Amino acid sequence: MRKISTLLAVVLYTVTLTAQNEKIQIRNIFDQALKSDVAYNQLKWLCENTAGRICGSPEAATAVEYMRQEMLKMNLDTVYLQSCMVKNWKRGEPEKAYILSKKMGRIEVPVSALGLSIGTGNDGLGAKIVEVSSFKELELLGKNKIEGKIVFFNKPMDPILINTFSAYGGAAGLRTGGAAEAAKYGAIGVVVRSLTLASDDHPHTGVMQYQNGIKKIPAIMISTKAADLLSSYIGQENDLGFYFRTTCQTLPDVPSNNVIGEIRGSKYPDKIITIGGHLDAWDTGQGAHDDGGGCVQSIEVLRLFTELGIKPNFTIRAVMFMDEEVAQRGGQKYAELADQNQENHVMAIELDRGVLVPRAVAFSSLDQNNTNHQKIAELFKPYNINIVKGGGGVDIGPLKQYYPSIIFGDLVTDDQRYFDFHHSENDRFEQVNKRELQLGAATIASFIYLMDHLGVE
Ligand SMILES: [Zn+2]
Repeated sequence: MRKISTLLAVVLYTVTLTAQNEKIQIRNIFDQALKSDVAYNQLKWLCENTAGRICGSPEAATAVEYMRQEMLKMNLDTVYLQSCMVKNWKRGEPEKAYILSKKMGRIEVPVSALGLSIGTGNDGLGAKIVEVSSFKELELLGKNKIEGKIVFFNKPMDPILINTFSAYGGAAGLRTGGAAEAAKYGAIGVVVRSLTLASDDHPHTGVMQYQNGIKKIPAIMISTKAADLLSSYIGQENDLGFYFRTTCQTLPDVPSNNVIGEIRGSKYPDKIITIGGHLDAWDTGQGAHDDGGGCVQSIEVLRLFTELGIKPNFTIRAVMFMDEEVAQRGGQKYAELADQNQENHVMAIELDRGVLVPRAVAFSSLDQNNTNHQKIAELFKPYNINIVKGGGGVDIGPLKQYYPSIIFGDLVTDDQRYFDFHHSENDRFEQVNKRELQLGAATIASFIYLMDHLGVE
């Protein structure tokens, strides 16, 4: 009896001590992150020296080398590049666009060519403009109302949705598929309303896709303010005209790289936890929120572990993926090579929701009855972080086909302002708050520490 109670006391003591240790370690991670300028300064350097680092550009190559050098300074177990071929789309000369009104004359409007769009040719493209808000409306107008005209897709993001990513998702199809759909009815070009809830004069960009066998026509995005103006002119004037000129083109693929650094696991070196963001960014901005921030936060996880002497049980690997924005080649390559090299991937987390206040950690295996998950929820409470079911991302998504039981994770940020910057010239370093960046890094590092420590389930 006495023996049993001694044993019980030892067990209880050990349990309390471990819980205590975890609590202290998370406090240490937060302290270290909140006192450090390292990640913030890395982001500053990236924004100032590699602005416009779309895949295939010299700026993207500079960013690759910079991140490699930063990780080499960190005393990691290994730092390497993973080569992949990427798309090479060039914007060309600054775009020009005008509303052509019989009453008001020529009114210049801010526009941005869409990624992978063809250009208009030197003379530009002028025609009558027709407004629709959906593919259904396009179909209803039919060929005789569309042929030879420019189609204006004017669908605002839905303002009543609390999750702005859902609002974005609800309207993004017009950007990606609008040109191909309009071309089916004989349109000669498309103008798409920028995907933001903000009313401003920053035109956004983003990728679009053509369909095999359907004529390729040029596509641009117009700022939200100009979209409202254009719509009001269309309402007042029959046969309103529109003109735009773009010189963008897609050149042959070029080689680029994912950048990788890792701390080898002390107990399970073969089991890998990936944490990553994408290093490429749209060419019109600095890629501060999308996604320079996710990259520097990912390597900050490794730096925090090293600084604090945390020796993970599993291998923790930071990956800066290339070409998320255009054709997702880096993410695909990463998954293919993982499979070819017979790696064992147990968890993958992607940071690509802007450098904003962290609200929650999302992961796909969350189970309210799991005592480890309950412990994580409890430990995060003092930091105002929830745990929710979710996780995943464009770059880590391809891992799923090779590792069906992989756990996906994500940092859920306060996304209300994210689309104010996303894919626009407004995505600049000045729009990033240092403390929000630090809190995000601390949160995800703590989460990885806990999953690693508790056994990843
Ligand atoms: Zn992104």
